[in-house]
Amino acid sequence: MALIVQKYGGTSVADLDHIKRVADRVKAIYDQGNQIAVVVSAMAGVTDQLVQWVREIETKQSNGEYDTVVSTGEQVTVGLLAIALQALGVPARSWLGWQVPFETNCFYGSARITNVKSEGIAGCLAKGEVPIVAGFQGISPEGRITTLGRGGSDTSAVALAAALNADRCDICTDVNGVFTADPRIVPGAQKLDKITYEEMLEMASQGAKVLQTRSVEMAMKHNVTLRVISSFLDSGGTFVLGEENIVEQEKISGVTYSCEEAKVTLVSVSDKPGTAAALFGPLAEAGINVDMIVQNIAEDGKSTDMTFTVPRSDLQKALSVIESNSIKLSFKRVDSDPNVAKISVIGVGMRSHAGVAGTMFSALAEKGINIQVISTSEIKISVLISEEYAELAVRSLHAAYGFDAE
Ligand code: ADP
Ligand code: ASP
Ligand code: MG
Repeated sequence: MALIVQKYGGTSVADLDHIKRVADRVKAIYDQGNQIAVVVSAMAGVTDQLVQWVREIETKQSNGEYDTVVSTGEQVTVGLLAIALQALGVPARSWLGWQVPFETNCFYGSARITNVKSEGIAGCLAKGEVPIVAGFQGISPEGRITTLGRGGSDTSAVALAAALNADRCDICTDVNGVFTADPRIVPGAQKLDKITYEEMLEMASQGAKVLQTRSVEMAMKHNVTLRVISSFLDSGGTFVLGEENIVEQEKISGVTYSCEEAKVTLVSVSDKPGTAAALFGPLAEAGINVDMIVQNIAEDGKSTDMTFTVPRSDLQKALSVIESNSIKLSFKRVDSDPNVAKISVIGVGMRSHAGVAGTMFSALAEKGINIQVISTSEIKISVLISEEYAELAVRSLHAAYGFDAE
């Protein structure tokens, strides 16, 4: 008998037929004598609709009311799945985030889980019940409902698995695992049987939305065995594990892209100590995450261009922060471009194999794609290019690293 946490995403609970199918799958695991806790998302498209309604009335930053609205999709699906299981004779009960509770901080809209009090869920499992838990939701120290950021149900599931010390956490979704690239963009993408936490963390943070980045962070921290599987098929899947469990290291594990950043260039900014601090300090204080940064060497020793990226949704805010610090910064002008894409290649094998960057740059050059910014980490190389070439770049790199299925 195992203790399993399974999470079903939006497309897996998209309508009543899908919910009944999920109930059948959960019942099969329960009938084999396992303890199972299920985390569910809202029906596909529901959270998008809720976010849009909030934005139509209020375009400013998230506050508690945003969370009150957008968390409601999950209340519907937990209730429906519990009813569907009861109809099959399985003792199931719905749990909202605050009932568990998933305690979080007060960052409404993208709150972080600080503690999961899992005694209630553990008691439910001990009685032979199946708890059906709302993903994405938490409760702040002020006693208000919080949400964990888009895709946050993955993190709810991993946090619950860690708190319950579960044997495994399954993320059940509309693809059959983690692929070498988004299978919707690259039809020849190949499923990986295993991937390390580190690589998955980079893939998720560089745009592979199959797992929320924080869920991978949490799985790595608590050593939760994570498996990404299809909600519709009975075999396949990808294990996300510690590096010690993977014997053969591929050079590259995947290619990702993200169109969620914007590029900002300060033209002719003074090249003197303190400039970077005067720029990036206020941006950080405003809660803006700066990602890629390049600074050219000043030819005249006096001024240089400074280019960096920020989340596209924060571009206007970033520009006004720069504007209000313009006297301290002294630059000629600011250029900005929201139409950029970040393409990344990821693999722990990069540490021991040479030539990964060369292959990337040649493949892009062959397609006439200009690289605007480059950044690297030990297991990742990212380039910023014009957004219109994003899909072409991903496909070309996928082929260049020899991933395309025969
Ligand atoms: P869910 O609603 O189940 O949470 P998501 O839409 O959040 O599902 O995540 C699954 C999607 O992630 C897939 O449909 C796929 O298009 C996308 N995806 C992006 N990159 C990858 C990748 N490397 N491997 C698998 N899926 C990926
Ligand atoms: N329903 C939420 C969203 O769409 C959470 C999730 O699906 O993981 O972002
Ligand atoms: Mg998701």
